[in-house]
Amino acid sequence: MIERLLIATTNKGKLEEISALLNTLHCELVTPDDLHLEIEVEENGKTYLENARLKAATYCQASQLPALADDTGLEVAALGGQPGLYSARFTGSHNASDHERRQFLLSKLKNYPRPWEARFVCAVALALPSGKFYSYEDACTGEIIPEERGSQGFGYDPIFLFSQLGRTMAELSLNEKNRISHRAKAVLGILPVFRNL
Ligand code: IMP
Repeated sequence: MIERLLIATTNKGKLEEISALLNTLHCELVTPDDLHLEIEVEENGKTYLENARLKAATYCQASQLPALADDTGLEVAALGGQPGLYSARFTGSHNASDHERRQFLLSKLKNYPRPWEARFVCAVALALPSGKFYSYEDACTGEIIPEERGSQGFGYDPIFLFSQLGRTMAELSLNEKNRISHRAKAVLGILPVFRNL
C-alpha cells in the first residue's frame, strides 16, 4: 500500500489532470513544489516509456517516495509522426510558449491537405524506492485544425479536435478531458498496479 505518492511533473495542467484521475486512491498526493524539489530531467530516451521512466526514477531517487511520471507526444500523420518525442522541443527552443509551438506546427502543416490526422500518445511510469518500475502507454486519436479553439487544457489542446465530438481538447472541461484523453487512458491503465501493491 502506497501512503504518499509524488506526481513527478511541474506542468500544472498535467498535475491537475493526474491528481483528479488518482482521486480514488487512498494515498496522499504530493508535488515537486510541496517538497521544494527543483529538478531538470533531460528527456533523452528513445521512447515515451523510457522518458517517463527516466523522470519517475529521478524524482523517486530525489524524494525517496514512489513517483509517477508521464511523457506525452503529439504524432501528426502528414508529418510522418512528428513532432512525437520532440513535441516539447519542436520549435528548436525549450523556451517557446505553448502558443508558439501550436503556430509552429500549423506553419509546418499548411501545405498538406486536410484532414490532418493526429494522435496523442502518453506513457506513464511508476518508480518505487525499492527500484521496481511499472509502466503503461495509451493514445487517443483526432485531427489538428488550423484555428485555435477553446481555453481549457494546455499545450496543443486548442488545435486538437476530437472529430466525433466536434470539440477540441481545449473545449472540454477537466472532467470531460479526463474521460477520453491519452493521459486518462494511460493513468487508468496503471491504476490496477496501485491496487495490487
Ligand atoms: P511532455 O510530456 O511534458 O514532454 O510534453 C510534450 C509536449 O506536449 C509539450 O509541449 C506539452 O505542452 C504537450 N502536451 C503534453 N500533454 C499534453 C496534453 O494533454 N494536451 C496538449 N498538449 C500536451
